Amino acid sequence: MEWEKEAEEYLKKIPFFIRGRVKKEVENYLSSKGIERVTLPELLSAKEVLLKKMSQAEKGYEVTGCFGLDSCPNAITSSEKLLKHLEEILEAEKLEEFLKEKVKGPLKAHHKFKVALSECPNACSQIHIADFALHGVIQPEINPKACSFCGSCSQVCEEEAITFTEHGPFIEMEKCVGCGTCIKFCPESALYEGFRGYKIYLGGKLGRHPRLATFLCYAKEEEVIPLFKKVLTFYKRHNQKGERLGAIIQRIGWDKVKYLLLK
Ligand code: SF4
Ligand code: SF4
Ligand code: SF4
Repeated sequence: MEWEKEAEEYLKKIPFFIRGRVKKEVENYLSSKGIERVTLPELLSAKEVLLKKMSQAEKGYEVTGCFGLDSCPNAITSSEKLLKHLEEILEAEKLEEFLKEKVKGPLKAHHKFKVALSECPNACSQIHIADFALHGVIQPEINPKACSFCGSCSQVCEEEAITFTEHGPFIEMEKCVGCGTCIKFCPESALYEGFRGYKIYLGGKLGRHPRLATFLCYAKEEEVIPLFKKVLTFYKRHNQKGERLGAIIQRIGWDKVKYLLLK
C-alpha cells in the first residue's frame, strides 16, 4: 500500500513500539474498503474507526496467536487448527450476549475473554496477560548410554538447566522451559523428545489490578479442548459482573480453582 508523505509524517508521531501495528491495522482497514493510497484524511478516518473498535468489544472474546511454524524457526507446535477450534467454541458460547448481560452497560475491550497462544516458550503473543493461555513445549528425555559427553546440550541451554554426573547429563526440570533446543543440538540422539504439547496458564490481565497468568498444567493437543470447555464453564458459572477470569481466581482462591478444574 502507498503512503503519502503527510500521512507518513503523522504516523511518526505515534510511539515507535506500536507504530508497526498501527500501520498494519490502518492498511488492513483501508484495503478492506478498496483504498490503496493512504492520505492524511484517510489515516485520520481510519484512526477514528480503530479507536472506536478498541473501546468496543465486538465479539466478547479475542484470540491471538504468534508467527508460528511458517515464519518462526523457534516454533515447536503448529496450532492453527487448534486456535480455530478454540475460536469456534468461544463463538458457540455466545460470550458477547453473556457479557452484555453481566456488565449491564456497553461492552468494552477490557471485558473480552482473551485467549493467547505462542508456539514456543518465548511467548511473543503476550500469553501471560490472557485469560486462557498456552505455549508449545517439548520436554527432553535422556538416554545416558548414548551420551558422548560432548557438552553441546549444556552450552546451548539458555536456562542452564543441564549439568553432568558421571552417568551423563542431568536436566533440572524446574529450570527447563521446554524449548527443545538441546535435542536439536545433540549429535548422538542421547536427548530425545519426551513430551510434546502445551503449558496452560489462566487468569492473566492488565488494567487497574494487573495479574500474570498462573500455570495450571501441561496438556497434550487433544487435551486442550476439553480443558478449555471446563474453564469456560467455570468462568461463566462464577462470573458476577463480567469480570476477567483473573479477578474470579483472586476472589475464589487459586488452590480451589485448580482443584475444581483438574479434579
Ligand atoms: S512465540 Fe516462539 S514461535 Fe512464536 S513468534 Fe515468538 S519466538 Fe516464534
Ligand atoms: S528444552 Fe530448552 S530449557 Fe530445557 S533443557 Fe533443553 S535447552 Fe534447556
Ligand atoms: S549433546 Fe547429547 S551427546 Fe552431547 S553431552 Fe549432551 S546429551 Fe551427551
